Amino acid sequence: MESENTFKKLKEKGRTATIQRLAVLECLRESHGHPTADELYQSLRQQYPTLSRATVYNCLQVLKEAGLIQELTIEKDKARFDPDPEPHHHFFCRRCKTIFDFQVNCPVAGSGCVEGHQIEEVQAYFYGICESCLKEEKRAVA
Ligand SMILES: [Zn+2]
Ligand SMILES: [Zn+2]
Repeated sequence: MESENTFKKLKEKGRTATIQRLAVLECLRESHGHPTADELYQSLRQQYPTLSRATVYNCLQVLKEAGLIQELTIEKDKARFDPDPEPHHHFFCRRCKTIFDFQVNCPVAGSGCVEGHQIEEVQAYFYGICESCLKEEKRAVA
């Protein structure tokens, strides 16, 4: 069912579901924490030794265009990828660089207009120190 959707979405963009594209998508869906293209390349390389870094980058662009994944710019110099293409909030820990999906009610979401602008979608980046880093900090102080 899910792979049918993948095929359909790629086809809508005039793309075929190549083995590489499916492998990149699967690898992204299995990895937690919004990996970078390079992290995906490193883990795919073990299974597909002939896969090049350029191919992984290219596959990610095609999957993004097909609306199967999304690219996050939460870290300025590093693109991260998310297997969930629907808009959702993210929290970035400045200390351990982990990205979490963040469930928080946004006050303006679904409220229509703010300052005359019609809101259609809200997706925010939050920055700070994550729970486990905070705990570690407390332990270090104590
Ligand atoms: Zn952290
Ligand atoms: Zn996410």
